[in-house]
Amino acid sequence: MDSVTNGNDIWKTALGDIETKVTKPIFETWFKYPKTKAKDFSDNVLTIEALDGFVSDYLEKRMFTVISDAVQKQTKEGVGIKIVVNGSNFIPDVNSDAQSIKPIKTAGIKINLHYTFENFVLGPSNELAHAASLSVSDAPGKTYNPLMIYSEVGLGKTHLLHSIANKLNQNKLNFYYLTCEDFTNEYIKSIRTNSTEKFREKYRSIDALLLDDIQFLMGKEQTQEGFFHTFNALHLSGKQIVITSDRPISGLKLLEDRITSRLSGGLVVDIQFPDFETRLDILKQKSKIKNIKLDDQILSFIANRVYHNVREMEGSLNKILALSELTGKTLDLEATEELLGAPEDSGVFSDPDEIIQKVASYYQITIEDLKGKSREQRYATPRQVAMFILREDSKINLSSIGKLFGGRDHSTVLHAIRRIQTDAATNQNLRRDLLSLRSSIINRNN
Ligand code: ADP
Ligand code: MG
Repeated sequence: MDSVTNGNDIWKTALGDIETKVTKPIFETWFKYPKTKAKDFSDNVLTIEALDGFVSDYLEKRMFTVISDAVQKQTKEGVGIKIVVNGSNFIPDVNSDAQSIKPIKTAGIKINLHYTFENFVLGPSNELAHAASLSVSDAPGKTYNPLMIYSEVGLGKTHLLHSIANKLNQNKLNFYYLTCEDFTNEYIKSIRTNSTEKFREKYRSIDALLLDDIQFLMGKEQTQEGFFHTFNALHLSGKQIVITSDRPISGLKLLEDRITSRLSGGLVVDIQFPDFETRLDILKQKSKIKNIKLDDQILSFIANRVYHNVREMEGSLNKILALSELTGKTLDLEATEELLGAPEDSGVFSDPDEIIQKVASYYQITIEDLKGKSREQRYATPRQVAMFILREDSKINLSSIGKLFGGRDHSTVLHAIRRIQTDAATNQNLRRDLLSLRSSIINRNN
């Protein structure tokens, strides 16, 4: 009880702060009660409950820094923030139907039965990750150990991890599937309650440990320490470990070096943004699962629109599904266009050229210098800022951003964006620049 009251106070004050930082429509759509409320504050973690998966998704993806800044102001440094949906501790995939998620006994956690290897569409962007995942589920601990799957959000890491879980289950092997965060919290709790032996015993009895989202450990040193010991013990005893990350290993720098080198000692595979053919295949496959019939023209139309990731693309399919259920009609191309907007119409998202122009004029440099090759900081920082904002506020992907900047490649852009994310955590001036630039862009669109 106590903890919730306390959490309420923190969150109320934080909301007051956030209200001054974001535009009114954003505040009302995504933050204002009942969109969010405090659920719990304990073990140095503030849990915020979001009204639904859309709210939690948006907050996680676009507002996390704002939230975390506002909360840190009210609390000691290092407070963790967790966003959950509707009383569950589990952030559902907003695009998957809840019924498909059934508990698998051996796992003790909900595994999505639709997330299987069979349902994972192959393409050049993901076949290596797929092959490696398949291989470890057939011979856990014997081939690649640890296996680390890396990609940006929404490109299929969790899907592959669940596929491994489903396959292990079929093969009657024992495993645990959990997020790195939950795994570590469990470890810390076992120390506090003097039950580390029990904790170790539990994990010693399995064949594989599947850990989602290691990036949560960034910057949490004590937590990393506990993580490392457990991880190491399991690894040494030949248990298969599979970890996913939405950052490349180099971007996890903040992790203890020992962990980084252990991870690099295994196999690291990445998943890239799928090409058109693969996107089309994914759409075909998802519509089959969701039991909707759409002709190829419509599917191509969807695949041609601009998305950050597969999850967003699936969102379009769900919109169409919802509408055709409401009207009882199968949609034609025209209705689809009307519903989703034309491919080049990016709705509330901002125009890339305009972002570039705004950033250049904010920093008082020319567009040529902004896009140019100079590494001088007065050009390099604005360039990174522009890439960061393009990624956040326009709907173009990393490669397209690279093209806007004289043909830089996708990893260079990613590096620039991570750089801004990391720096913004400690550099108040940078945060101020980002806020005022982005609010001038967001304001225009609302
Ligand atoms: P991540 O964990 O990388 O953020 P998810 O695994 O949650 O991404 O994937 C987001 C959505 O995209 C899921 O619904 C998943 O099924 C779908 N998806 C991604 N890649 C593929 C693929 N190759 N084939 C089928 N579905 C995919
Ligand atoms: Mg995931």
